[in-house]
Amino acid sequence: MKRPERIGVFGGTFDPVHNGHLKAALAVGRRFGLSRVLFVPSNIPPHKARADMAAAADRMAMVRLALRGRARCAASPLEVRAGGRSYSIRTLRRIRRLHPRARIFFIVGTDAFLEIETWKEWRSVLDESLFIVMTRPGVSLARARRAPGPEYAGRIRLVRRAERVREEWLTSYRIFLFPIDALDIAATEIRARVRDGRPIAGLVPAAVGRYIRERGLYKKLSR
Ligand code: ATP
Repeated sequence: MKRPERIGVFGGTFDPVHNGHLKAALAVGRRFGLSRVLFVPSNIPPHKARADMAAAADRMAMVRLALRGRARCAASPLEVRAGGRSYSIRTLRRIRRLHPRARIFFIVGTDAFLEIETWKEWRSVLDESLFIVMTRPGVSLARARRAPGPEYAGRIRLVRRAERVREEWLTSYRIFLFPIDALDIAATEIRARVRDGRPIAGLVPAAVGRYIRERGLYKKLSR
């Protein structure tokens, strides 16, 4: 029987999308054999909303530019089109309806996963998809083991470096801790650099840098 398609769902504010996101998605996609990774910019992120956030349409446009020509990655307008606050549980259910036979992997950095218990219907979020938790520089990946409470302890698996992800793990475990050589890049730092007139070359794809310049984004931010 044909193996179910594996789809990665990478949510975030992407304000702006940067090379840290791209490198991480590539590493996850390769090791977990994902046929594609959907980058899903939130419309209004419940946890990270800021008054000075770039418009959803701009964040979406930058994700599109960043992914242009990258096979196996796609920009998804699901949350931006839905409007309002973006909750992962709704997004995952929509993606499940669109791809009923696929294995869905929700991709998050360790910093985001440490807050899992504050997400709307967080237990359902964990039931709805498999989770891949990636290294974020400055945050201990090991801490993620304790983030969702003791009842999940037996469902968490560390994927060691160069270790093959086995098919049977996908039914025995729900949360995979995945160490990667993450880039130490954060969108906060990029916004601060633009505001201060410092260069951002090497931190974002060139097309994203051009878009930020042309649209005059992040010029006068309070951070
Ligand atoms: P900000 O600095 O504004 O908080 P951010 O750089 O963390 O933004 P987000 O859009 O909030 O970017 O991140 C989306 C997802 O990508 C989160 O799960 C986050 O943990 C992960 N992520 C962000 N930067 C990196 C990175 N450099 N390496 C690996 N994962 C990352």
